[in-house]
Amino acid sequence: MTETVQHWCDGKAFAGATTATAPVTNPATGAVSTLVALASVEDAKYVIDAAAGAFSEWRDTSVAKRTQILFAFRELLNARKSELAEIITREHGKVLSDALGEVTRGQEVVEFACGIPHLLKGGFTENASTNVDIYSIRQPLGPVAIISPFNFPAMVPMWFFPIAIAAGNTVVLKPSEKDPSAAMWMAQLWADAGLPAGVFNVLQGDKVAVDELLRNPMIKSVSFVGSTPIARYVYATGTAAGKRVQALGGAKNHAIVLPDADLDLTADAMVNAGFGSAGERCMAISVCVAVGPIADDLVAKIAARTRTIKTGDGTGGADMGPLVTKAHRDKVASYVDAGEADGATIVIDGRTVEADGGADGFWLGPTLIDHVDPDMSVYTDEIFGPVLAVVRVESYDEAMDLVNANAYGNGTAIFTNDGGAARRFQNEIEVGMVGINVPIPVPMAYYSFGGWKNSLFGDTHAHGTEGVHFFTRGKTVTSRWLDPSHGGIELGFPQNA
Ligand code: NAD
Repeated sequence: MTETVQHWCDGKAFAGATTATAPVTNPATGAVSTLVALASVEDAKYVIDAAAGAFSEWRDTSVAKRTQILFAFRELLNARKSELAEIITREHGKVLSDALGEVTRGQEVVEFACGIPHLLKGGFTENASTNVDIYSIRQPLGPVAIISPFNFPAMVPMWFFPIAIAAGNTVVLKPSEKDPSAAMWMAQLWADAGLPAGVFNVLQGDKVAVDELLRNPMIKSVSFVGSTPIARYVYATGTAAGKRVQALGGAKNHAIVLPDADLDLTADAMVNAGFGSAGERCMAISVCVAVGPIADDLVAKIAARTRTIKTGDGTGGADMGPLVTKAHRDKVASYVDAGEADGATIVIDGRTVEADGGADGFWLGPTLIDHVDPDMSVYTDEIFGPVLAVVRVESYDEAMDLVNANAYGNGTAIFTNDGGAARRFQNEIEVGMVGINVPIPVPMAYYSFGGWKNSLFGDTHAHGTEGVHFFTRGKTVTSRWLDPSHGGIELGFPQNA
């Protein structure tokens, strides 16, 4: 009998009252590896109640004690991260080295959150007025929700929960139903690290679970990462219910290649950023904008490198794994069909790939499409697969206009050896994360991660100091102690003296 991945509530696995489940597949074989529980509203309420019940004790736990638990979690994660990587590869499909990289990037946020005593420090002004002091403190919000996408089942939750927990909040994580096991593994790790029951909880499910998190008054904030239509919905619904919401959405990331760029290094970068994790990264490069006469050379160099990529089971020696589900694989392939029908040139066709993996795996090889026009669906839509489109333009201005006109604004990069051109790019480009000769400019944990335009709804980016602010609210205290100089009746507005 196939097992069911359960919820995690109050420090242990929790089956929930409903029997509704969804299948989880191994993308490299196509076989159902497990089922995942789909929470009912009652199940969701039960888990939220556990998070609410644990809050008052956790927020009053000393910063020193909270930090010790963070350090213990970090040590366990570092020692056992290969276990987590294997789970990710089994359910997501990305190759093991990439899964390990994802865990390491998540771990960096845990390490950042270990510095929470410093990050939570407020200000203090002695004698703001005569014998009156004023100081600021930051306090946790309460139970907070994290809703994560399939493509980073460990890293994206770790963008949020280390800081949320370190700051004194309790957490309900709703992972993607496509790869739910990583969250359960991390929940057990928290328990092993000594986190009190109820501080970190996992609610498995779909829209039913999400809607309860968005509407339940006990949940104080929502951190969402996923596609733009759902991000928009989550932001509108959560804020209407009075919650603090950060909703990170989809992407269409462009790399501009200027004529003076080193074309060999640039071609390496295009292949790595276009096809790593089979293009299922929100920071993947999906459009290469070739400026001027270099286009033929650049496409030839990218094509030569693309031909060397081995597609196959992520547990073997492949460079690139399968797509996450059959439905997603077929959707991505349909964009290649559409590009071909619209007149773009298919330079390398991933639809005919011979993968080193199961016959029923969700395979699509790296695909390079040249002469793409901005009105083709292969350009306009987020594809989220191993499809790199090349758009040819005449000038740098034309390239910048293309990027700035795009509805998304997550990441972008420029390849050039011209410092002035690069500086203009960082100044004028309307995108949240910018790379200069760096194709995937994911900020370190102590900076904040987030896009502009349709790539993020809300005004706070993930992790870094913005993350600390998101998971805390400020309070200022004005204080004086018995002092005769403060006596007497005075109905005027208080002024400093
Ligand atoms: P998705 O939007 O389908 O799902 C994200 C989460 O929302 C999941 O937990 C899912 O269960 C839930 N969900 C799905 N449909 C819902 C509905 N109708 N109502 C309420 N909740 C719903 O996204 P995905 O396919 O899992 O992930 C890929 C997407 O995530 C891509 O668009 C990618 O660009 C985006 N992404 C963005 C970032 C970023 O930082 N901006 C990072 C990673 C992924």
